[in-house]
Amino acid sequence: MRTGMFFCLLCFNFFAFALPQHSPVPGGIVVIEVPRETKKAHYLKHQTMILEKEGRTFAVIGIPLSASSGSHKIMLLDHDNTTSDLDFEVFNKEYKEQHLTIKNKRKVNPEKRDMDRISREWTEMNRAFTHFDTGLATQTNFILPVDGPISSPFGLKRFLNAQKRNPHSGLDIAAATGTEIKATAAGKVVAKGDYFFNGNTVLLDHGQGLISMYCHMSEINVSIGDKLELGGLIGEVGMTGRVTGPHLHWSVSLNNTRVNPNLFLKNKQESSTDI
Ligand SMILES: [Zn+2]
Repeated sequence: MRTGMFFCLLCFNFFAFALPQHSPVPGGIVVIEVPRETKKAHYLKHQTMILEKEGRTFAVIGIPLSASSGSHKIMLLDHDNTTSDLDFEVFNKEYKEQHLTIKNKRKVNPEKRDMDRISREWTEMNRAFTHFDTGLATQTNFILPVDGPISSPFGLKRFLNAQKRNPHSGLDIAAATGTEIKATAAGKVVAKGDYFFNGNTVLLDHGQGLISMYCHMSEINVSIGDKLELGGLIGEVGMTGRVTGPHLHWSVSLNNTRVNPNLFLKNKQESSTDI
């Protein structure tokens, strides 16, 4: 009887959300069915999203670009606080290389005086990425925030001025400065700033650790705490921060892991340039 009540509550909270595409590779998303009585799931110490679809329960797990192929596991917690492990497989994926020339050398090799600012901004963004909000209705039906060609796909191995850097953790959409940027899904503004690398940036929380980030904007039209509808105006495309031209850098994060944003879109975007 008690368990039945829990199921009803879960249905109310998690019902009718679209599942992202299952893509068990580094930078991908694993969508794995878990027992109905699952209350929480953790992967690499981060709580993961749980969604319900057609009477079945799924853990939705972001896989880091740095993940190695092979067996991985999530830890499940049920309503009686019993824990169990569930194994899944991650398969290899090779991403292409991208070599870019950045004119502002300070944006590639920051000076000592930049480090405090970079560290402060990283902490601010990390706080948003690690937040797990169960009070928000989880939003997984995404739209493209800007119409335009994909100038840099997700996951590229990056070399800036011939120096190896972290892989590309978002997707770049080329568009003219001033083009409107729309909320990829309904969400709440949880961070906003003019960051050293990312320029004018907004982070939106879509519930259960699902966060979207919009960078390099010329204008920001929202404030922290604002609640946006799907397609709500966030700001305008620009070229602030570390860029080679005007574009939107759009990142999507699950369990503090940047994943391929395409996996949340119905019509997948492919790179328009062969980099
Ligand atoms: Zn980018």
